Amino acid sequence: METKHFQNLIDGKWVPAQSGKTLENRNPADTRELVATFPASDKQDVDAAVAAAKKAFTSWRLVPAPKRAEILYRTGEILTQRKEQYAQDMTREMGKVLAETRGDVQEAIDTAFYMAGEGRRLFGQTTPSELPNKFAMSVRMPVGVCGMIAPWNFPMAIPSWKLFPALVCGNTCVIKPAEDTPLSTYNLVQTLMDAGLPPGVVNIVAGFGPEAGAPLVEHPDVRAVSFTGSSEVGRIVGQTAAGSFKPCSLEMGGKNAMIVMDDANLELALEGALWGAFGTTGQRCTATSRILLHKDVAQTFINRLVERARKLKVGNGLDESMQVGPQISQQQIETSARYVEIAQKEGARLEIGGHRLTGGAYDNGWFFAPTVFSGVKPNMRIAQEEVFGPVVSLIEFSSYDEAIAIANGIQYGLSTAIYTRNVNLAYKAMRDLEAGITYVNAPTIGAEVHLPFGGVKQTGNGHREGGTGALDFYTTWKSVYVDYSDKLQRAQID
Ligand code: ADP
Repeated sequence: METKHFQNLIDGKWVPAQSGKTLENRNPADTRELVATFPASDKQDVDAAVAAAKKAFTSWRLVPAPKRAEILYRTGEILTQRKEQYAQDMTREMGKVLAETRGDVQEAIDTAFYMAGEGRRLFGQTTPSELPNKFAMSVRMPVGVCGMIAPWNFPMAIPSWKLFPALVCGNTCVIKPAEDTPLSTYNLVQTLMDAGLPPGVVNIVAGFGPEAGAPLVEHPDVRAVSFTGSSEVGRIVGQTAAGSFKPCSLEMGGKNAMIVMDDANLELALEGALWGAFGTTGQRCTATSRILLHKDVAQTFINRLVERARKLKVGNGLDESMQVGPQISQQQIETSARYVEIAQKEGARLEIGGHRLTGGAYDNGWFFAPTVFSGVKPNMRIAQEEVFGPVVSLIEFSSYDEAIAIANGIQYGLSTAIYTRNVNLAYKAMRDLEAGITYVNAPTIGAEVHLPFGGVKQTGNGHREGGTGALDFYTTWKSVYVDYSDKLQRAQID
């Protein structure tokens, strides 16, 4: 297939990085395949993109929200037509299997339609004034230029979670896609342009984090920053933004627990475990990375999970018969391998996997065997730290209270799940699990776009993507008082 060479998008024009540098986007299932090249941008490019976004803001903020929303609606329609092509592109750049990349594009479609609906809502409040002949209301105002930094694991869905609510609220955007998966952001933004988005409203600056991401966070004209990625980088981004009191939404790691009670439908829990742990090759922030098993069902579950994990078909995601794709990069398989070593040293029992897959087509990509550890203790590093690979830890418990304590005994708080047929326990878990998301009788993955997405503790800093939470981030509240009494009225005094 012919290699495409992409440029930055600044003020509606495609321009190379001013330094002339580029980066390569390779297929993780076959690194011989160069999918495309992209600019390796730096501060100068970021400055130009922010200037374009700042200029575009002066007119975009005045476009009525329902009209802005019409562009999102058309974007949803065009994405629907292009879904298959964009899914194929995404599998080539990111590796996850086609069923999942179709889901990723679908998530962008869902977000487009959902946020298009917001164009005719964006509700504020009206409320009585304490004074006569005075009217009080609050309205949502756009923030201005928003800087967005995206990760590689949901190459279209996550950019859509950031761009679409920002746009419907009247903001303009500069987005830096992940260096591993820029193509899907380009496909998304191309669709916005084809749907009629004016120049400069969305700008793309491709490149690496320290060179292209950091200047975006630091730029004084960027009024809000939305970041999804590792806790390590999130800390840098958050601290930088705090220096200028810039609103900053951080979505970071997880170490998500699925609790399997002794009364659970084990077959259902097993299906959930396989999907939660090995879907997206374990590279989701919501991946099921700890499975907490009631001691009475533990051995049966372990045996059946290992048997099912053994049968998973790992390979190139473009092959429809595959269930698990490659990891994104050499660095990621090295991380998985390192944690396998750590877990073994800590005394966890390797039930299956634990190594890079080699031989034949595997030698050309970053494939890691689905890996299961049993006998894991809650305080082991393998049970505490995010691996971001196809590695799952099984931990046994004796009571509901113990399970909750283990589930909560980590620094993260993104997603959780409980499998039980006891309605009382299900409700208790919904109350007791310290996480932004709890599933009952479903795995830790599977967020829907119209509900808030995000976590507590070190997973995030309190903001939410998805749902109306996204509108709260991309707008500021303005309280408006209209006094029609024709005289000075003093609140709290008269
Ligand atoms: P992951 O491990 O998922 O790649 P990272 O946190 O390393 O997570 O990357 C997430 C995003 O943050 C990427 O787009 C990356 O380029 C960007 N990034 C990395 N370092 C920085 C930084 N110092 N400042 C801003 N963005 C960064």
